[in-house]
Amino acid sequence: MALRTEEEYKEGLKDGRKVYMLGNSVEDVTEDPYIKVGVETAAFDFKMGHDPEMKALAVMKDRETGEEISSYFDIPDRPEAVKERFNLVNTACSYAGGAIPFVKDVGTDLLNALLALSGMLDDKTYRDRIISYRDYCARKDLSMAGAVTDTKGDRSKSPSEQESPDYYLRIVDESDDEIVVSGTKAHITASAYCDEVIVIPTRNLTENEKEYAVAFAIPLNTPGILQVCRPNFRYENKYLFPRPEPHKAHVESLLVFDNVRIPKERVFMNGEWQFAQALAYAFTAFHRFTAVSYKIPIIERMAGMGMLIADANGIEKASHVKEIFVNMIKYVETTKALAQAAIAKPENFFNTGYYVADRLTANIAKLYFASNFHEYVRNIQDLCGGLLVTQPTYQDWQNPELRPYLEKSLGGANGYTAEERLKLMSYAHHIIASDFHGYHETLTIHAEGSFAAQKMMMGLEASIDMYKDLARKSIGSNVK
Ligand SMILES: Cc1cc2nc3c(=O)[nH]c(=O)nc-3n(C[C@H](O)[C@H](O)[C@H](O)COP(=O)(O)OP(=O)(O)OC[C@H]3O[C@@H](n4cnc5c(N)ncnc54)[C@H](O)[C@@H]3O)c2cc1C
Repeated sequence: MALRTEEEYKEGLKDGRKVYMLGNSVEDVTEDPYIKVGVETAAFDFKMGHDPEMKALAVMKDRETGEEISSYFDIPDRPEAVKERFNLVNTACSYAGGAIPFVKDVGTDLLNALLALSGMLDDKTYRDRIISYRDYCARKDLSMAGAVTDTKGDRSKSPSEQESPDYYLRIVDESDDEIVVSGTKAHITASAYCDEVIVIPTRNLTENEKEYAVAFAIPLNTPGILQVCRPNFRYENKYLFPRPEPHKAHVESLLVFDNVRIPKERVFMNGEWQFAQALAYAFTAFHRFTAVSYKIPIIERMAGMGMLIADANGIEKASHVKEIFVNMIKYVETTKALAQAAIAKPENFFNTGYYVADRLTANIAKLYFASNFHEYVRNIQDLCGGLLVTQPTYQDWQNPELRPYLEKSLGGANGYTAEERLKLMSYAHHIIASDFHGYHETLTIHAEGSFAAQKMMMGLEASIDMYKDLARKSIGSNVK
C-alpha cells in the first residue's frame, strides 16, 4: 500500500472508536471542534509524504519490498540515523508551522526501544513480533500513539501497593492466544486521532508485579478502550485574528483499558518484570532526543515573534530590550547547540546495534530547554506590554462601528498599523498568554519526562569517576 494522503488518514479515524469530550461521546473525531486541532496538526505527517519538497526527507524505501514508506520507520542501525532522525523531526515541526505532527514520533521511538530491548533479551519470538508489527504499520502507513505513563495513584508506592489496581495497567487474564488487560494510561498525546497505540510499563517492577510487566500494540477502536479527552482550544477561535497558518496543537487522552483482549502476536512483553525498567529507559533514550529535536522550531518562532513585537512597540533600540534579545538568543542557540552536541556523539545503545543520540547531552538539552522556558516566555511577555491580554478581539475589529476607534488608537511604530499590531498581539496572546500557553508551559516541564527524570539520567550517564580522578590527581590522593 502506498503512503496515505491526509484524506485517507482522516477517513481511517471514522472507525467506531470510543472517545469522549466534555462528557459527550464524539461521533467523528475529525469534526469535533476541539479534537480537530490535533487532527489537522497530525495531518501534516501525511501531507509531507506527497510534497515534492519534503519527499526526500519524509519518504524512504522499505528495505524488503522497496515500496515507499514514511522515514519515521527507519531502523536506526547506523550512527548517521541519529542525525537523519533529528532532521526529520525538526523539519516536520517547521513544516507544520511550529507544531510537531507527532503521530509517528512517539510510536517509532517505542518500536525502536522494543527492538533494542528484544536484542538485550535475546528473545526471537518477541523480536519477530515487533518486526512484523513495525512492517505492518510502515506498509499501511499507520499512525501510532505511545502509552507509557500510568495514572500512578500514590507516587511513593509501587503498583502492587496501590489502593486501586487500575492505577497501573496490568494483565487480568491470559489464554493460549491472547492476554486481557485493564487499567488506565494518562496524558496520551494524539491517541484520539491515531490508528494504533503502543503500550509499555512506565517504571521498575518487582517479582510480585509480573502482571504489570506488559507491552503490546492494538488498534484504538478495539472494544474496551475508552478515551476521555480534555479540550485544549477550539480549531476555530473567533477571538483571534485569522492567520495563514492556523493554530496547531495536540489533544491528550485519559486512555482507559477495560478488559481489552490483545492477541499474542501483538504482545511484546508478558511478565518479564526484570526488564520493565530497561524498556522504559530504552524508550527515554530515543524519545527525549525527539523532544529536543521538535522544540527548536517552536522556540525559534517565539524569538522572532518577540522581536517583531519590540519593532511594533518601537522599543527595539532600548538597551534593556537588546539585553532581552541577547537572553532569547542565548536560550535558543544553547538549546540548538546542545542538540547538535547530542547528535555529534551517537551511541550504540548497550551494543544492541541501535543508535541513539548521546544520552547525557540529550538529557541536558531537554532539562536546559524545559527549566529555562518560563523565563524565556516572561521576557517576551515583558516586550508585549499589557495589550497582550487586554487587546480587542477579532470580532471587535470586524465591527464597523468600533474599527475606526481601534484604527486610530492602536497603531504602533515602524510602519505597524493597528491591524498589523493587533494581528501580531493576537498571535502572541495565543502563544504566550492563553489557556493554550498554560498547557504548553506544563507540557514543557512534564511531557517527555519531568525534571527529576532528566536529572536521574544525567546522574547515571555522567563520568563521575573521571571528575573524581582529576581531583585525586591534583591532590595526589589514592583514596578510592
Ligand atoms: C502535554 C503532555 C503530553 C504527554 N504525552 C504523553 C504521551 O503521549 N504518552 C505518555 O506515556 N505520557 C505522556 N505524558 C506524560 C509525561 O511523561 C508525564 O506527565 C511525566 O512523566 C510526569 O508524570 P506525571 O504527570 O504522572 O507527574 P508526576 O510523576 O506525579 O510528577 C509530579 C512531581 O512528582 C515528582 N515525583 C513523581 N514520582 C515521585 C516519587 N516516586 N518520589 C518523589 N517524587 C516523585 C516528580 O518529580 C514531579 O516533581 C504527557 C504529559 C503531558 C503534560
